[in-house]
Amino acid sequence: MPRGTGTLNDPYELSSSEEESSGPIEISSDEGSPDDSDDDIPIMVKYRKRKAAAMDEGADTEPEPEPPLQCDALRDALQEIEGMTGPDVPSRLSQVKMSPAERDRMLKIVYQRVCDKGFKGEKNPSDSATREQVRAVCGIINEVIFNGLLDRTPYIVGLNEEGTESKAGDCRPADWVVKRGKKVFMPARIQFNAGKLAAIVVVNGEIGPRLCNGLVCRDKVSIMLSVLMHEIVHLLIHAFVPEDLRKATGPGSSKWAPHGTMFMAIVQALYGHTDFKVALDTVVTSKSLNKSMVSPGLSVMLKVPGSSVATRGRVTKVNPKKAKVTMDTGDKFIVPYALLQRADPLN
Ligand SMILES: [Zn+2]
Repeated sequence: MPRGTGTLNDPYELSSSEEESSGPIEISSDEGSPDDSDDDIPIMVKYRKRKAAAMDEGADTEPEPEPPLQCDALRDALQEIEGMTGPDVPSRLSQVKMSPAERDRMLKIVYQRVCDKGFKGEKNPSDSATREQVRAVCGIINEVIFNGLLDRTPYIVGLNEEGTESKAGDCRPADWVVKRGKKVFMPARIQFNAGKLAAIVVVNGEIGPRLCNGLVCRDKVSIMLSVLMHEIVHLLIHAFVPEDLRKATGPGSSKWAPHGTMFMAIVQALYGHTDFKVALDTVVTSKSLNKSMVSPGLSVMLKVPGSSVATRGRVTKVNPKKAKVTMDTGDKFIVPYALLQRADPLN
């Protein structure tokens, strides 16, 4: 890939390399999807209801302050970060210890605001996403999760349609480029592949679940959020970590690399992401497998790159996060469990 253009994109490519990573893959059954139960109403809404009730009763106590958007651990980190520069900034983010409930609460606020403000209450908008929506979603993430931290790193947004069809999103670092003999500053750019999202079929207002960054997303807003939250971590690392550290080679060099150890620690801490790939072409169905169902020797079906139908293969090796599969054609792939489908061994 050309130097200086980021290379930070997220095609879902089934890895055929020998490289295997460890760590559990968590398939959330409820990433940001709305629910009718009262417990799932965002805390902000509950709070306003309470405050309104108190005012109706003529309570003479001071109104409670608005609850903060971030949990204590994240708010403390963001406050400390205000006085920090350089790699300390993303490093501090990677250390945030948030409980799953705290993370869930925050992500639900993000989700609700994106639905309400960005998509007129639609979780599966039929129109293709616009640049303005990408900008709005990034703005909501900046406000709710980062308390304005992104304001320290100017960026533009774009729709990802220029020879990058296979990627769900992309983040290019700020750079100087030569145009007509003059050096011109190009700000960082976050791109989103609206075409890939629009291609997902909506039936009766619902879509088939998709695996995004290690979690299952059940609607288009969740997918877009997952992709943009991921790209924003690239943006922050580009902005605060010098290029020589990001492009280092040799022992320990994966620390600041795209999807390296610090990147993954941050997306896990803030969003619960356990992977960095987005598989919008494959529906996660009831036929999908999970780790407990897979062992070496199992016959499975898998949709391999370039094919529109699943074909047969056999699991040859398992690790905590992925399985190694040898297809009947002899091709080998390493894939997350949720992309494997059951196969009837008799046909
Ligand atoms: Zn990425």
